[in-house]
This record gives sequence, structure tokens and C-alpha cells, in this order.
Amino acid sequence: MDNHLLVILPHPDDESFGVAGTMLSYKEKGWKITYACMTLGDMGRNMGNPPIANRETLSQIRKKELEDAAKILKIDDLILLGLRDKTIEFENEDKLSARIRKLIEDCQPTLVITFYPGYSIHPDHDACGAVVMKAIASMPKENRPTVHALAISRESIADLGEPQIVNDVKSYSQQKLDALKAHKTQMQEVVRQTELALQEGNDEAIDRLNYERFWLYSFE
Ligand SMILES: [Zn+2]
Repeated sequence: MDNHLLVILPHPDDESFGVAGTMLSYKEKGWKITYACMTLGDMGRNMGNPPIANRETLSQIRKKELEDAAKILKIDDLILLGLRDKTIEFENEDKLSARIRKLIEDCQPTLVITFYPGYSIHPDHDACGAVVMKAIASMPKENRPTVHALAISRESIADLGEPQIVNDVKSYSQQKLDALKAHKTQMQEVVRQTELALQEGNDEAIDRLNYERFWLYSFE
């Protein structure tokens, strides 16, 4: 059976932010790459500068941005789960985790990447991670994929220790920036600041572009 990476995150742009280089590196190794995006980020406050969206059009514009980013990141399968932005924590957890379990059983991934619940800053991020972990925990041990969890809160290293997985994604830095740029309504300022920091030789910005870090998630 072919190796398969399944990324499950809540927002269009989460993939470009934290997992872009990792997806490209697995793709280059011949893995199949699926991204299941829970929402269309339709409650986002940014409309672009100058604005290119409004409250009505934002979800369709973000969908197109996500499709553009998916092409740059060579994602084989883009699955839109159609949940409402900023409401994942209010979903029925049993129902949603059953749906995610079905998705995982259909995809048969070797590896799942999602947010580390409790260490991912945004309520949608934490709720997404929690429901994915719940879905996997409900599976028989021998059927569970490996999970690499993305933790982004300040306390991550103090609480969880150093990340066990550090992916060197230097060779994909341009594609990663291009994918971020595809999210025009949301990422203009981030891209501008990142490019400025890179020009200035800012170590933290360079490190963030060149390495992607994940924690193993234990179900015991
Ligand atoms: Zn997000």
C-alpha cells in the first residue's frame, strides 16, 4: 500500500503556515497528500488590503485561495469538510469525531498531521486537534496512523518538551512563501513582514521558514 499523509486542519492558510514544506517533502518521497480543511475561514476579519472580499464573498474567495495554494503545494486531494468558521468547539464532538474517523478509515493514512489540542492558540485549532485525537483514539490500536501534532502556543516546549520531529524544509521555502501569498485576503501582512525579516537576516524568521516541528501524540 502506498504511503499517505492526511493533514486535518481547520482553516484555509493553516496548511501553508505550518505544514507546507512537510507536505512538499513527503510528496517528493512519493507519498499521496490529502488535506482535509474543516472550514472556509468565512468569519475571518481580513478582507485584503485593499479589500478584495466582503462578508458575503469571503468564503468563496478563500476557497479559491485554498485551491491555488493546494496546487502550489502539490496536494493530491483537497477535502472541504464544510464546517462553519469559529464554531468547531460548539460542534457535537461525538458526531464530528465519528465523521473524522470515517474520513481516516477511507483515506487509510500512514501519517496524520493536525493541531496539538490545548497548545494551538485559536479555539478552532484546539477543537480540531481534540476531535481528530478522539477519532483516532476510538480506532483499534493496530489500525491507528502515526500522528504528528503541530503545537504553536508559547508554552509548548515548556510543557511538552522539545518537538520529536524536526523537518528540514529549506528546499521548499519559495513554494512555502508562494502558498502563503495565495491566501491574499489573509496573509498579505504576514508575507510582507516575513520577507522583510528574511532580507534583514532575522534568525527567527529564517528558522521558521526552514524548519517545521511536530510533537508525537501519545494515546496512552
Ligand atoms: Zn487557523
